[in-house]
Amino acid sequence: MDPLKILLVSSEVTPFAKTGGLADVVAALARQLGKLGHDVRVVMPYYGRLRKSEYAFESVERVQDVPMRCGEKRYWFSVSRSRLPKSNLDVYFVRCPELFDREGIYTQDPDEHLRFALLSRAALELCQWTQWAPDVVHANDWHTALMPLYLRTVYAWDKLFARTRTVLTIHNIGYQGVVSSETLRDLELQNERRLLYQEDLDQGRLNFLKTGILYANALTTVSKTYAREIQGEEHGMGLQALLRQRDDSLFGIVNGVDHEEWNPRKDPLIPHKFSERDLRGKEANKKALCEKFGLDYDPRAALIGCVSRLTAQKGFELLPDILPVLLHRENVRLVVLGSGEERYENYFNWLAGAFPTKVAFKAGFDNPLAHWIEAASDMFVMPSRYEPCGLNQMYSLRYGSIPIVRRTGGLADTVKPFDSATGEGTGFLFDEFTPEALYGALQRALAVWRDESAWRRLVQNAMRENFSWERQVEHYLALYRRLAPAQR
Ligand code: ADP
Repeated sequence: MDPLKILLVSSEVTPFAKTGGLADVVAALARQLGKLGHDVRVVMPYYGRLRKSEYAFESVERVQDVPMRCGEKRYWFSVSRSRLPKSNLDVYFVRCPELFDREGIYTQDPDEHLRFALLSRAALELCQWTQWAPDVVHANDWHTALMPLYLRTVYAWDKLFARTRTVLTIHNIGYQGVVSSETLRDLELQNERRLLYQEDLDQGRLNFLKTGILYANALTTVSKTYAREIQGEEHGMGLQALLRQRDDSLFGIVNGVDHEEWNPRKDPLIPHKFSERDLRGKEANKKALCEKFGLDYDPRAALIGCVSRLTAQKGFELLPDILPVLLHRENVRLVVLGSGEERYENYFNWLAGAFPTKVAFKAGFDNPLAHWIEAASDMFVMPSRYEPCGLNQMYSLRYGSIPIVRRTGGLADTVKPFDSATGEGTGFLFDEFTPEALYGALQRALAVWRDESAWRRLVQNAMRENFSWERQVEHYLALYRRLAPAQR
């Protein structure tokens, strides 16, 4: 079969810019597609912070100082490229300092819509300037969700895109990009009002993600359970009815683990390597991590890890009711790494102060430490309110850190309940979003922890799970081929 041309556009791509799973998923998917011989171009913004990075960027000829009209405003963008590490393909960076030279990746600034509309349009204009006709444009989350509509409107005249089909992946429906309908001019959509969701316009709004859901040829989300959940009242965040209408074009494809990045046998970011056959390195990582944070190391104490964005989605409000009790009653240690809402940072700072030899909290984003925590901890807690896929529980499985998770979204699809009678299973799940239910799961985990041989079996089950991208990429490819059959 002929290779496909795939344009993958995202606001984050590991290792260049990352706040969460989206960045890992786009990088891993691109890498796998590249390995299979497909012609993949990944496009993302050139954020100001990249200027200080170690990566080498090369200007893309001709695509320099290109003017783009955005209503009354006019911007100029240029494109540079850099190799995606451990791959045979390039990431293309849209440079527009006026929009992308900001403190963070995301902002609350009034032109946030313009930043990502420009990214979306510049990605298509890069194709035009280089006369590269994508078979598939793959957009990700609200930031690039206008791409399918742009192909039908602003760029519809260009035959280059005549055979292009679109996929929109919903990594998290909680972020939809809802902006004032006064931005239509900025977005060059003022003449396309009839194509937009009328009810929203009547209320003075435009919803990027909803528009993408209307116009993408196919929709995917990052687990089968989440694909079902977002069609219902509880998790649809207002888009459930529309998603139900598009049910036959909505597919759940669970994310994978990038084994190049996450492999305890050769991870350069962890002090001691290990495998399921020889877990001594794991214990050494635990000891070293406890020492680093001044925790009281005890091999019989279970070390519970947590690495997360600190947001309500992740279920942190379940913790205050149970953690002090758990820490008083049980021989456990807790290490938390997270950045996000101040109220959660304050809480963990307080907890670490109250239990200085048992709890460590590091605020901020720290990739090497995230690897180390996975490698060192015995258990990994993810009590998410909702979880589209979740990567950390899969990384945890691979690093023998037993996930304790709420049965929702991708967590339900990737963690199998451990059954002491049969010795089967990989983790502990709970259903109700209550502190008691989480406490119950922790108690079940600790009961198995006390039985050394049962625990070893559980750890080995977990480490043998295989959520590799090599397998998952086939599902995306099958979808791309179905959408773009002419290239078969
Ligand atoms: P989400 O995308 O909702 O944040 P995922 O579990 O899918 O959740 O992905 C989170 C990714 O971000 C993982 O790779 C995790 O290791 C990483 N991560 C989250 N918070 C931090 C942090 N504070 N420091 C380092 N890595 C983090």
